[in-house]
Amino acid sequence: MGLEKTGKILTKLLFPPRCPVCDGIAPWGSLICPGCRDGFRLLTAPWCMQCGKKLTTDEEYCTDCRRSRHQYLRGRALYEYESVADAIYRMKYGSRREYAEYFGGEMVTHLGGFIAQARPDALIPIPLHPRRMRKRGYNQAALLARAVGGRIGVPVREDLVFRIKNTTPLKQQNPAERQNNLKKAFIIKQNDVKLELKSTILIDDIYTTGSTVDEVAGLLKVQGVERIYVLTLACGAGI
Ligand SMILES: [Zn+2]
Ligand SMILES: [Zn+2]
Repeated sequence: MGLEKTGKILTKLLFPPRCPVCDGIAPWGSLICPGCRDGFRLLTAPWCMQCGKKLTTDEEYCTDCRRSRHQYLRGRALYEYESVADAIYRMKYGSRREYAEYFGGEMVTHLGGFIAQARPDALIPIPLHPRRMRKRGYNQAALLARAVGGRIGVPVREDLVFRIKNTTPLKQQNPAERQNNLKKAFIIKQNDVKLELKSTILIDDIYTTGSTVDEVAGLLKVQGVERIYVLTLACGAGI
């Protein structure tokens, strides 16, 4: 047995993966308890044709998307936010990195059609500011992107977009204030080279107003990326 494989098994024995629903130790070889499989609520139709937000009426677009245009083409999310909020919190602040493996698999299972239609040349996770990255040790959006990319054989590019402003969107901010707060929050590293991506999917954990992905999508468009989509783990109205 190779050293790397032995190491992986040892890590599993010492730190067995936790179930993203109940946070108990998942059965050996699994990422979730059998009884917890329906623990999160999938975001089902009808959803907004632009951002993917759950709709309660049979309108085509949500109020947000009717009011303002987005920089990306279409977005979809896997779960309704409220049902998965605690798990996302543990994944971000409680070192539950392993949840991303489960979530990535579920994104491919349930949103594979959307991903295939986008025909992405690469997946781009929304980056964290370096200071936050050092504190947390990982970027949950990148973990999700790697879990998805690994399953569909699409590269994950973490070397293109960087966050240079450490901003936290505040609940009481309206969309215009959020957008203003995010101005110049990101840069594209290779801005002297035209990006050789025709289509890309931006990956993040939560979609709220779309101001963050819009900011990144706007920069990528300037660099010549033709089609930009958004895929998130969860999306909800009142976050
Ligand atoms: Zn469980
Ligand atoms: Zn919408």
